[in-house]
Amino acid sequence: MTPTPKKRILIIGANFAGLTAAIKLPKTCAVTVVDPSPHFEWIPGIHEILSGVKTPQGLRLNRSEIITRAGHRFVQDSVIHIDTRRRRVTTAGGDTLPFDAAIVAVGGINNNYHIPGVDSHTWPFRTVADSQAIEKRMEALQHKPAPQHVVVVGGGLSGVEALGELLRRYRHRQQISFTMIEASNQLMPGFPKALDADLRQMCQEHRVSFHTGESVERVTPKGVWLTSGKRLPSTLTIWAAGLAPPPLLREAKLIRPPHTWAAVYQNLQSRHTPSVFVVGDAAALPKPVSKQAYNAIDMGALAAQNVIRWLADESLRDFKAPATPILLAFGDLQTYLVVGKTVLASKTLAGAKEGVYQFFMAQTAPQPGLQGVPGALRRLRKSWKELVVPGLLTIKDFRSSPDWRPLKLL
Ligand SMILES: Cc1cc2nc3c(=O)[nH]c(=O)nc-3n(C[C@H](O)[C@H](O)[C@H](O)COP(=O)(O)OP(=O)(O)OC[C@H]3O[C@@H](n4cnc5c(N)ncnc54)[C@H](O)[C@@H]3O)c2cc1C
Repeated sequence: MTPTPKKRILIIGANFAGLTAAIKLPKTCAVTVVDPSPHFEWIPGIHEILSGVKTPQGLRLNRSEIITRAGHRFVQDSVIHIDTRRRRVTTAGGDTLPFDAAIVAVGGINNNYHIPGVDSHTWPFRTVADSQAIEKRMEALQHKPAPQHVVVVGGGLSGVEALGELLRRYRHRQQISFTMIEASNQLMPGFPKALDADLRQMCQEHRVSFHTGESVERVTPKGVWLTSGKRLPSTLTIWAAGLAPPPLLREAKLIRPPHTWAAVYQNLQSRHTPSVFVVGDAAALPKPVSKQAYNAIDMGALAAQNVIRWLADESLRDFKAPATPILLAFGDLQTYLVVGKTVLASKTLAGAKEGVYQFFMAQTAPQPGLQGVPGALRRLRKSWKELVVPGLLTIKDFRSSPDWRPLKLL
């Protein structure tokens, strides 16, 4: 009797959602994982490259080794076409990869909102390489005697965390000033307003100006023009204004109007093609969830289970978003814990944020156990030196400890 061929599962994109799915899938399936980048990247930590607290190396793990250790095949390439009818994809390198079921985990791309000048005159802030490029530019700027204006467009989580790290490193450079532009009426839209007030108050003594309720009309090499008619001078404009879906999803008809992201059922199966599951930032669930790494990880894990169930003709399970608290770091000035409508502020929370990173990296690193110790120690040593010692465990901190402070809700 000929053995039944292994089911072919293709994973497109292998960061939080896709890599988790790959790790969870059993070796009994023929799993192929495609991603153009050789590294997994801890994106929630890229702001710390701006201040030198983290290095690019500390935020990356070898993707191929992790996937090979899980017993699967890694193809370093980019998918350029998904043929959902024939169940195969084409890659930029010219390969055709067939599948019985696919997990699409391609995340999002920088959203330029079709605003003139964004692509050519702003610095995106989405990847380790983006952050590294900004850090190099800032290093060059800080030695120039003339006034330098750094503009951050986007006052959400990534923009605010970027501003915090820039202040950590450059707030004592008198010639550098900072501007933040946010289209919504408050910083950190969707979060308690008290956070907005606290952030502004903290920035009062640091040459930061905020323009909320203002939209960008165009960007030039020398400044940012707002739709209100204001022109803000800028030497360096950082674009942290949100995500757009990769064009691949629309082209594969995984996105169809009225949706702007790939619509899935609560079990993560595409509404348009049952052999495809979409997870992470790319997915639009019936009950919307925030585009956060912890949701992407949980979706990846569930998709791995549901793909196996679907291939075995079993019923699928629904995704239940966990009520995870958000940790927002603002350089060495403050860290916030947001649980629903409650916000707690304490510098010591930086340790908790660091703990989440250390735990994930140690757990996911390609070499578990003793072999992984050197990498884990390198990351720990760096955190200890850059974060814990200067920020948390000074004598002053011990004396004033605990500095926990609930924010008054507005
Ligand atoms: C600055 C910043 C700070 C953040 N901070 C936090 C935080 O504190 N906490 C939190 O929970 N979340 C945070 N997030 C959000 C979090 O990073 C995302 O929600 C998470 O990365 C989404 O995971 P994902 O796997 O869906 O997509 P991604 O992590 O974006 O991964 C997508 C993968 O798909 C690959 N890919 C793309 N196109 C193709 C293609 N055509 N073919 C093959 N592969 C492809 C990419 O190379 C990439 O590896 C932050 C994001 C940013 C930008």
